[in-house]
Amino acid sequence: MNLKDIFCQDRAINSMQRAYTAGRQGHAYIFAGADGIGKFSAASAWAKMLLCQEKTVSEGPEGVFHDSCGKCQSCMVFDGGGHPDFKPIYKELIQFTKDGKNKKTPVDLPKDVITEFLIEKVHSKPKMSDYSVYVVKESHRLNAHSQNALLKVLEEPPAYCVIILLCNSIEKMLPTTRSRCQVIRFGEIAENIIVEKLVQMSVDPQQARYWARFSELSLGTAMDWASVEVGENGIFGIKREIVSALSVYHLGDSLELAERMSAASKKISEAFSARNKSLSKTDLNRRAAKGLIRMVVSAFSDAIRLSVGDDAALINCDQRSEIATFAGRFSADGAADKITKAYENLRWVDCSVNEKLIFEELLLNIAGCSTI
Ligand SMILES: [Zn+2]
Repeated sequence: MNLKDIFCQDRAINSMQRAYTAGRQGHAYIFAGADGIGKFSAASAWAKMLLCQEKTVSEGPEGVFHDSCGKCQSCMVFDGGGHPDFKPIYKELIQFTKDGKNKKTPVDLPKDVITEFLIEKVHSKPKMSDYSVYVVKESHRLNAHSQNALLKVLEEPPAYCVIILLCNSIEKMLPTTRSRCQVIRFGEIAENIIVEKLVQMSVDPQQARYWARFSELSLGTAMDWASVEVGENGIFGIKREIVSALSVYHLGDSLELAERMSAASKKISEAFSARNKSLSKTDLNRRAAKGLIRMVVSAFSDAIRLSVGDDAALINCDQRSEIATFAGRFSADGAADKITKAYENLRWVDCSVNEKLIFEELLLNIAGCSTI
């Protein structure tokens, strides 16, 4: 992928282009924006351009636009996936650290990974190009200790070194880290553009609208969920079942519904895993469980939308009547309280609490404060 192929992130790319044209190529960046919004694609395309041996220069609407040629030896090796000067850093590398063999992938990005794959490597000169580009995924998962270890490298990286930290929230980065990096913000993509993109992938338009809203306008997340193949009715069928069950839900249904959600979570995680073999299974289990909890949250947030007459913004736009039945059981304050509690359940997922217990707790809680 070249820079011109990056989808709907013109503002971020153009700000980097302006700095590059002015000779202010940064050595440390933070790319900040929601998960699945295209930060890693942009970082890869930027790296490919820096490493390219025959860069192209064209005049774009916002000024000079530098891009990779797509044809030189560096670009060919880059597209083949093994460029020696492009170094993505991610937590699954724990397996390849000195003491990490057979270690489970943790929630946080381990300090050993940063030390052994970045800090100890930055002084190795590039092998094929003018730069070595390090892209640290999920930098918001670096704890203070790890961020402090990185400071010296961020402050005085070798001239050929470029470090790009990807994070989903700039607030999670220490001020000392932020002050040493150029911060590039990645914005939301318009809902209609995401819907259009999903429809091009043969997703039904109504389902596409749901996934765009479910993903909070993150194209990558929307594509991930919309394209998962699970069971006969697909993942959209699972979400419809959950919303229908919630609309007529009673305390006595809790354990059975928790059981169904738990089984669905396993299937979704397996489907993710079949498609992303390199990703940690623990992470994919968590992604599936969190997605299902967010489906429940979306029913509550829709109940609030209906209570203020904002029908057009419903996430579950395909199940308005079920949402109306559901909304009749809670006041807006009651629904907001349920959302707060469900967010606590979301945090439990990262703390390795048993999934079925989390679903049970979530559903018992809903029933406990129900007005019926
Ligand atoms: Zn090239």
